Amino acid sequence: MVRVQVLGAGPAGGAAALTALQEGAAVDLFEKSPFPRQKVCGEFLSPETIEILDGFGLASLFLSQAARMPRVQLYFGEKEKRGILAEPAYGLSRSALDSLLLETAVSRGARLHRQRAAPSPGAVVATGRLAATRKGKRLFGFKAHFCGPQNDAVELFFLDGRSYVGVSPVEKGFTNVCGLAPEEALQECKFEIDEYLARQRILRQRLEPLARQGDWLTSGPLVFEHRFESPELNEVYCAGDALSFVDPFTGSGILSALLTGREAGRAAAQGLPCSEYRLRCRQRILPPFRAATFFRKALSEGWGWWLAPWAPLSVLFSLTRPKI
Ligand SMILES: Cc1cc2nc3c(=O)[nH]c(=O)nc-3n(C[C@H](O)[C@H](O)[C@H](O)COP(=O)(O)OP(=O)(O)OC[C@H]3O[C@@H](n4cnc5c(N)ncnc54)[C@H](O)[C@@H]3O)c2cc1C
Repeated sequence: MVRVQVLGAGPAGGAAALTALQEGAAVDLFEKSPFPRQKVCGEFLSPETIEILDGFGLASLFLSQAARMPRVQLYFGEKEKRGILAEPAYGLSRSALDSLLLETAVSRGARLHRQRAAPSPGAVVATGRLAATRKGKRLFGFKAHFCGPQNDAVELFFLDGRSYVGVSPVEKGFTNVCGLAPEEALQECKFEIDEYLARQRILRQRLEPLARQGDWLTSGPLVFEHRFESPELNEVYCAGDALSFVDPFTGSGILSALLTGREAGRAAAQGLPCSEYRLRCRQRILPPFRAATFFRKALSEGWGWWLAPWAPLSVLFSLTRPKI
């Protein structure tokens, strides 16, 4: 029997483990953090996610927990744009989603090793973002859950060229507030996120009726990059953020992680060459990565700021996510 080693039990590792099991392989799943665990993440799940989860037989369990988001509201400073998504998106905390994938994989026979592991040839590497090595202007992410009145929309507040905050529903009536800002802007407030958010009028008004549950989590520095051309990946099946970390405003990172994780699990179980696996991922992930990079640059240069409110939402949405 083929034995597949999967490093990391985030969405990419969970999807890889479940797919390898479906392919008839034995799975060793390594996870260094205790579960369930929180992650700095907007916890917005693109509509296509349901199709992948359905393939694992998890759609109804997922739907019984997740919040539904049929609407989107974008704020560019004082300008506002509202729309209806072609299909509803979902909100589920990472502690619930990642545990669902991990527990299902274990219940189907994956052997869980609660430890950090080093990759060996043929392993699925789904260990998340690489540590940032680049110097210069650094971005940090932050997140907390709030209770109070819940909206059925994903709301994105673009505060200036480089910062934005998402407000969206998750399970049990909670609201996720998650954002990204330059280090220097956060340092001005000594990383007091409440103070940072209160400086923005529209956001301050939006958050007024909500009460924060627990501390802010922060994460960074964040670097958006992909490793499709990295020859050192010729011996492993690299998936999720470890392969490509896209700007989170797209809300497509988890979808990409599930997608590449699924492909990696299948490729590892079938013994497909790693280079061929990576080429398949590149064809699906690189176009939306490039679109996201273009929109991010447009926003930070200032002219996207004026263009974006008039661009059709459906086009922005579909250009920034992979086809499954
Ligand atoms: C601020 C912010 C907001 C975001 N918002 C959204 C959003 O709203 N929607 C969306 O779709 N995406 C969002 N993303 C992106 C999303 O979080 C990632 O794309 C997703 O987590 C990638 O999943 P992954 O499985 O590749 O990695 P991870 O979720 O990072 O999982 C990696 C796992 O590997 C484990 N690990 C690491 N090293 C080892 C090792 N050596 N051995 C064993 N275990 C190891 C870690 O403990 C971790 O559990 C956001 C990201 C940020 C930073």
